[in-house]
Amino acid sequence: MDSDLTQIEAARKHIITAEMQTVARDEHRDPQWICDSVALGRIVIPANHNHTNLHAHGVGEGLSTKINVNLGVSGDQHNYANEMKKVELADNMHADAIMDLSNCGKTSRFRTSLVQTSPAMIGTVPMYDAIGYLEKPLEDISADDFLDVVRKHAEDGVDFVTIHAGITRAVIDTWLKEKRTLNIVSRGGSLIFAWMKITGNENPFYEHFDELCEILRKYDITISLGDAMRPGCIDDATDQAQISELVQLGELVTRAQENGVQAMVEGPGHVPIDQIEANIKVEKTLCHHAPFYVLGPLVTDVAPGYDHITAAIGGAIAATAGADFLCYVTPSEHLRLPDAQDVRDGIAATQLAAHAADLAKHVPGAKEWDHKMAVARSQFDWDRMFELAIDGDKARSMLEAAPPQEEGTCTMCGQMCAVKTVNETLKRMGLTV
Ligand code: SF4
Repeated sequence: MDSDLTQIEAARKHIITAEMQTVARDEHRDPQWICDSVALGRIVIPANHNHTNLHAHGVGEGLSTKINVNLGVSGDQHNYANEMKKVELADNMHADAIMDLSNCGKTSRFRTSLVQTSPAMIGTVPMYDAIGYLEKPLEDISADDFLDVVRKHAEDGVDFVTIHAGITRAVIDTWLKEKRTLNIVSRGGSLIFAWMKITGNENPFYEHFDELCEILRKYDITISLGDAMRPGCIDDATDQAQISELVQLGELVTRAQENGVQAMVEGPGHVPIDQIEANIKVEKTLCHHAPFYVLGPLVTDVAPGYDHITAAIGGAIAATAGADFLCYVTPSEHLRLPDAQDVRDGIAATQLAAHAADLAKHVPGAKEWDHKMAVARSQFDWDRMFELAIDGDKARSMLEAAPPQEEGTCTMCGQMCAVKTVNETLKRMGLTV
């Protein structure tokens, strides 16, 4: 956007920005309705002024469910070329957002390449980068230092940042009093907790929230209010620690918006199916209908190796109940840094969860996609089917790996292909197929 207004500030002045126009076009919605929803904080359009090749996306009520892909290097696996190949894969599979979760050494090289090459919304968790960027042990880092790291990410062009500002002293007291099976599983949350306990200080992002907003406002970065107390296992789902942090996040949504900063809220985590809808409703109520970005939710703890499926089940239910943004989970969750195949499987599983929810919510354009696939199937138009498929390359390779005897069919039913039988019968009857 040319102006120095943020999207929410522009919307409050009834200005329809170029980004709002793009979202309206992609979502088959009226630009005025998008503008009104941004003004209310029900839709966010993360779009850093410095991310010049961004294709703007809207996240929030009434829009298609968006998906995020986590990438980035770790201390054990730091091959930047591999990560950039995964970026290419995510962009080719039309991921809406990519979060750089690099957590070792100097991370700006990957982050800036990501911003320069990808049209997806780019997110980071500046807290992961603090020790590497500042080259100091955790105990020597000051609140100002933390803000400097956020400033650096802002200048580099990221569109949204996860900030764990809701884990306050009061929330920690609630957690320690009530006890948990798996305590804190949020990486950023665990670092903030450790820093607070070492220094004796309040959460620096909570205490200096207005200064933080000043940095975010300048670049129009959306704050993604992180859930440090998200349940990391079914035992801890929807407990007092999680809900007390959510109450703080609701307060911070309002403060961010008052500062001209767009806000969304992150959510669980590991949640059994029967609690998912309630989690979404409570978040929407406590956080004034800010967009909800869920990390799963994983509906059981017992499926390492298959957690993309565990999360897709939870994600479909969450998005149907009103979650707006799904963070992908790969088969390697809890096990290792994902390889390219894990990334592909995670994206496909999350996209199908998002789309299944969009169908259930009657999101404009969702049903048309399925209709096109059904028409292609009825006409044995395999190329069109692969073009429409979430993972067309995988679908094509599976078909081609097992050629059928009967042309046009597949080896599932072969000569007994129901579609072929009915098409031929209808033709004999003089009816159009
Ligand atoms: S053979 Fe069976 S599975 Fe394959 S296209 Fe025909 S009906 Fe579908």
